[in-house]
Amino acid sequence: MSGKLNLMQKVANLYNMCGIVGYIGEENSLPILINGLKALEYRGYDSAGIAIFSNNKVKVRKSVGEVKILENDLKDQTSLVGHLGIGHTRWATHGAPSVINAHPHSDCTRRIFVVHNGIIENYKELKKYLQNRGHSFLSNTDTEIVSHLIEDFLREKKDFKTALFDALKMIKGAYAFAIIDSKNPDTLYAVRLSSPLVIGVGKHENFLASDPSALIGKTKDVIYLKDGEIGEITKGGVSITNLRKQKTPSEIVRLEWDLEQAQKGNYPHFMLKEIFEGAEVVLYALRGRLRSKENLVKLGGLEQVAEKLKETKRLLILACGTSYYAGLVGEYLFEEISKIPTEVHFASEFRYREEPFEKKTVAIAISQSGETADTLAAIRKAKKNGILTLGIVNTVGSTIARETEAGVYNHAGPEIGVASTKAFLSQLTVLTLMAVYLSKSNGKSSNHALLYELERIPEKIRTILSKASEVEKLAEKYKNCDNFLFLGRRYNYPVALEGALKLKEISYIHAEGYGAGEMKHGPIAMICEKLPTMAIVPQNSISEKMFSNLEEIKARKGPIFAIATEGDEGIEMLADNVFFIPKTIEPLEPFLTVIPLQLFAYYIGTKRGFNVDKPRNLAKSVTVE
Ligand code: GLU
Repeated sequence: MSGKLNLMQKVANLYNMCGIVGYIGEENSLPILINGLKALEYRGYDSAGIAIFSNNKVKVRKSVGEVKILENDLKDQTSLVGHLGIGHTRWATHGAPSVINAHPHSDCTRRIFVVHNGIIENYKELKKYLQNRGHSFLSNTDTEIVSHLIEDFLREKKDFKTALFDALKMIKGAYAFAIIDSKNPDTLYAVRLSSPLVIGVGKHENFLASDPSALIGKTKDVIYLKDGEIGEITKGGVSITNLRKQKTPSEIVRLEWDLEQAQKGNYPHFMLKEIFEGAEVVLYALRGRLRSKENLVKLGGLEQVAEKLKETKRLLILACGTSYYAGLVGEYLFEEISKIPTEVHFASEFRYREEPFEKKTVAIAISQSGETADTLAAIRKAKKNGILTLGIVNTVGSTIARETEAGVYNHAGPEIGVASTKAFLSQLTVLTLMAVYLSKSNGKSSNHALLYELERIPEKIRTILSKASEVEKLAEKYKNCDNFLFLGRRYNYPVALEGALKLKEISYIHAEGYGAGEMKHGPIAMICEKLPTMAIVPQNSISEKMFSNLEEIKARKGPIFAIATEGDEGIEMLADNVFFIPKTIEPLEPFLTVIPLQLFAYYIGTKRGFNVDKPRNLAKSVTVE
């Protein structure tokens, strides 16, 4: 997967995961920058760096990994004192996470220092243009062209501001920049287009950040920079102009948030915020990859192994927890759409199996963090046996992303809630795209209807989320249950398992997920008034079978909560409660059926008074066996 970081080109410009901080004033900027970067850590990043104007020159320090590592590296550097500085946490899009690629970046003369959130889309042309004009580059990033481009205009004896404006005219893409011109240490420059930046207004000092949470404890007065605006920030004031060099008015807004609130926006918990990001994460995972009009899926991350993939005879999906359940949906997708036999294994089991590996098998690891120890071990084992390994990973540059030969990033943004919600949806998206991609490369089927419908999924997710209060009411009814049974068939069988897992994780209610056909082979013995069933019964090729199961439950007085398709009123004769979802095609049902189950677990957990963002005994990234 390494080397395919440019996959984010089309999407990261819409999603701002990394962080920017800046300071100009009378204080020493270093601790302010470090604390600001720490406040942005929750967003996710892979490296960090700072530039401080100190003793008449700009000093840059960078490191890979946590801000703490950068902080420790700087502990003894007592001479690194200065009143102007910028800092950055990077979520690599162009060039692997490394010290060289970490920001800030500079020009050939080391006069200009830039940190950047976003993507410069035309960086290749600009880089070539600048190289032809004698510039040499140190990093593989798109960002570095910015400092060189400004430098290039400065060579024409322009003043810094004019050079900056001229450079901006040539740059296409999405960006937030914080820039230092070392010949003018009284000013900090801030530029924004499609990537947020906020100026914190203080007394004899001003701040800059990509997210107000970095300003908390420093100032509550902020100016939100608008798209196409350039801020010139001095310790005494802020002046804002647009790209046409006209002055624009700015409004100071007062923040009334604490740190956690700032990060969570208006949501009481990260988990709820992340459930509500469901539609967006599907969009992020599709962007630039799905071209439904051309009936085409483009997965840049798989391009270099495309030839090998055409020969795939068998797929192995290796994962744990929620990713494993996404993998189970993937099994149905790969078999139905790509016509490739697929098996899903718990990575923790697979690593100890005596698997007779066959050539032309491809192993796919699914992991949100990309650090899951069992999944990593499983993928290493597959690799050792000569199997091509792919990754479906959310965290750019993580170990699984680096160790797999190719792969596709989720681009879901950092998931803070320990119980996975939005990552599951983005995994489903990537798996669906991969299934179509593999079917195409095998030349087996045309998937126009599927791709058309896939594009409509985000809107349908929004419809479901707009009815979250209905789920909340039902959570009130069921919150004191001791046990719960989740049933589904085909594509909704893994969703039943995932729904049960969510309830266990978040509300500590014992829950079992079953394929509904298995009910009469055991669990039916448990059915009684005290065991409610969550039945996933959208209208599809097997709803009749599900209805028969529900009749059996009803005959034994088991309470039923059904997830059904809008317009399917008949279900109300059978179920005690129904939550209706929009109609979609069967392979895409899990995208919609899982949302009410996530909400259900969330509301029951909160109603029972638990900390749903940090359930007891669980860790977000399971890096131990
Ligand atoms: N595109 C830039 C890079 O890869 C910035 C990424 C970010 O937003 O952190 O370095």
